[in-house]
Amino acid sequence: MKHVHSHSRRQFLRKTAIGSSLVCGLIPEESGLLKAQTPRSYKYDLLVKGGRLVDPTQEISTNRDIAISGGKVALLAQNIPESEALHVLRAHGKIVTPGLIDMHVHVYDGVAPLSIPCDPNHIAKGVTTVVDAGSAGANTFPGFRKYIVNQADTRVKAMLNISVVGQSTLSRDNVWGELLELRFANPKLTAATIEQHRDVILGVKIRLTQNIAGTHDLQALGMAREAADAVKLPLMVHIGGSHSSIKDIMAMLKKGDVVTHSFRGGDGGIIDDNGRVLPAVHQALARGVHLDIGHGAGSFSFDTAEHVLKQDVLPGTISSDVHQWNVNGPVFDLATTLSKFMQLGLSLDQVIERATKNPSLVHRQLNGLGTLKVGAEADVAVFDLEEGDFVFTDALGATRIGHQLLRPVATVKGGHLYGMASIPVTRL
Ligand SMILES: [Zn+2]
Repeated sequence: MKHVHSHSRRQFLRKTAIGSSLVCGLIPEESGLLKAQTPRSYKYDLLVKGGRLVDPTQEISTNRDIAISGGKVALLAQNIPESEALHVLRAHGKIVTPGLIDMHVHVYDGVAPLSIPCDPNHIAKGVTTVVDAGSAGANTFPGFRKYIVNQADTRVKAMLNISVVGQSTLSRDNVWGELLELRFANPKLTAATIEQHRDVILGVKIRLTQNIAGTHDLQALGMAREAADAVKLPLMVHIGGSHSSIKDIMAMLKKGDVVTHSFRGGDGGIIDDNGRVLPAVHQALARGVHLDIGHGAGSFSFDTAEHVLKQDVLPGTISSDVHQWNVNGPVFDLATTLSKFMQLGLSLDQVIERATKNPSLVHRQLNGLGTLKVGAEADVAVFDLEEGDFVFTDALGATRIGHQLLRPVATVKGGHLYGMASIPVTRL
């Protein structure tokens, strides 16, 4: 029964994706944003018209209309006539980007306690592709595939936790993480599960904080390394508050691996007490290790970010790590995280690059996403770039006043149009 129910709900979403009461309810027709033509034969299914397109894969940052046909980008041009499309999404005055890719989320709702429902937090907010960062391990992945990947409208990929139980143990009322029992780290089973699900799993995830990996963190990291090497995929390492030093952890990372929570404050981060980026981190970057943000509930500090950026070290990817304990602030969503980096001095084009083009380069399986080249999947995000005075808060409670806020307005995935949810960010 459960299956039948969720299947029909999915069909409902699909069927009503364009020109329906769902969309009209979220984007009122009187707003003039969405215009449906009377049916006849049209060259294009959907036209996203009048917006400023920011697509770093094509070095475009100017006005372009996007014509979509059969779920793919059919044409990018200025002034494509509205009469050529069945539906027109009027994006005048708005920012239009490839659908965002969030490299670090948790969407195993109901199994990993920190997880949140996928679609309302992602596709409804401009994010068409997410990478779940280790919520599932080998034993819990089949359920993740069945109940999340196959059900969500958001495109869901995953890094598989080296612990077979994934992130199912740690919650507010049970502070014990998935690697305190080292026998739960199983490189062979992890590699075998990845082999079975290579279309969804992009690599191996490990968390090294002491309440999660104890004092045997390096041993656990060695096992994650073994699994990642066996399947020739990247390792994503969550740093901070670990028993072992960042120097010893970095030494085990190779080209293509990802360090998440890289701009955290406090112990186990990438800077020393004087704010200097550690030599071991520079060496890892030189080897081709990527820095990911993974803002999270305890893992992003404005102070660290300001120190690191001053040394010309930029994150490769900007991800949210949005989850149960930060979705109502301070993270909210990926768009707010990107806005914080604009406050830190990155340009709009630079932040969009780190949530579209760069993630698609880190993971081979995401090649072809994060772009609006003709022929690509028609994944599009539309934002208002609001001007004002916005209070942004980091994971330590420090605040900064930013003057630009990206606010998701609408999302298109594979040519289907989705509505939006608003972002509760404090306004002065
Ligand atoms: Zn996380």
